[in-house]
Amino acid sequence: MSTERHRFETLAVHLGGEPDAATGAVVPPLHLATTYQHPPDGVAPGGLLYQRADNPTQQRLETALAALEGGKRALFFASGLSACSAALHMRAGGRLVVQNDCYAGFQGQLRTFAARWGWRVDTVDLADPAAARAALAEPADLVWAESPSNPLLRVVDLAELAQLAHTAGAKLLVDGTFATPALQQPLALGADLVLHSATKYMGGHSDVMGGVLAFAEDGAEADAAWHARELIGLNASPFNAWMVLRGLRSLAPRMAAHQAGAMAVARFLESHPAVAAVHYPGLPSHPGHEIAARQMRGFGGMLSFELAGGRDAALAVAGALQLFVNATSLGGCESLVEHRRSVEAQPRSPEGLLRLSVGLEHPDDLVDDLDRALALVGGAA
Ligand SMILES: *Cc1c(COP(=O)(O)O)cnc(C)c1O
Repeated sequence: MSTERHRFETLAVHLGGEPDAATGAVVPPLHLATTYQHPPDGVAPGGLLYQRADNPTQQRLETALAALEGGKRALFFASGLSACSAALHMRAGGRLVVQNDCYAGFQGQLRTFAARWGWRVDTVDLADPAAARAALAEPADLVWAESPSNPLLRVVDLAELAQLAHTAGAKLLVDGTFATPALQQPLALGADLVLHSATKYMGGHSDVMGGVLAFAEDGAEADAAWHARELIGLNASPFNAWMVLRGLRSLAPRMAAHQAGAMAVARFLESHPAVAAVHYPGLPSHPGHEIAARQMRGFGGMLSFELAGGRDAALAVAGALQLFVNATSLGGCESLVEHRRSVEAQPRSPEGLLRLSVGLEHPDDLVDDLDRALALVGGAA
């Protein structure tokens, strides 16, 4: 498989999928062994020792992930949050500049552990270029951006932020969970690391957890994250690696369908009198639309919107939807809706905001479902 010659869709189907040498099986074998035979005086050269350190199923996935991100190395973890904590353990702390609108669970990790792990945290609106420049006028060690962000779908100019971060002496990490490598490749824009919750679109079926760190360089940081995984125990089951590798095979066409649905839903919502605001980078009205069009291959399947009638209207609509399931998470085949404020440990989302993960149903059926639910709070479109 040549990463120069073949396109993303083709690579995603084949990478890490070489037929099994022992049997010819076209689908990679799942190796569940926890331990590997070795000579009496230590590990076989280049060999495997113990599942927590490495295993062949996970190695296949990591080979594929590194190539799909355009990186030199990738590591797989038990969850997105374990990848976050491995990234924070790459060094003994320092100054962390983190985006204000980012995954709520990571904010919880920072509130609880950042100081203990040696990090001074500055929370900044990195989607605002002036705020980003001001924050990075002073030295920093790690800049943590999420684009598009959760739940407001803010878009960060990643090429510009990479320059600002590097001038400040910091590495740039981008949480690209919403976009996936099918739509956005932060390493090519100058980022040093990309993080994903593989639980979302990579797995793609709401049935496996995993996390990814992909590195522009295979150096001290990648080694440190590898050691954090082994010695803190952030490793995933080989079965999870197998499931995520399986998910990668259909990632590109799934993302194309997710975003076609999200675009149809966003356009419908924007025209509806009961809706006060729609946050979707694919809409020309979105403040980050032009940057997103420049740095992404598509706008993704996530959006959020605000009801003119506030909290009561949002809860009424969420309760009346029939196709959209009220549940947290995203990236599965089924559409989900969530009143974020009701599930936030530290409430910060607007009261009238609903987040949608647009699934793979027919877009017209999703629009009909929303139309019916919205009629309860503000008339027909
Ligand atoms: C879900 C999510 C995470 C955390 O991933 P888990 O697999 O749930 O631990 C991190 N970042 C973003 C943007 C997410 O949506």
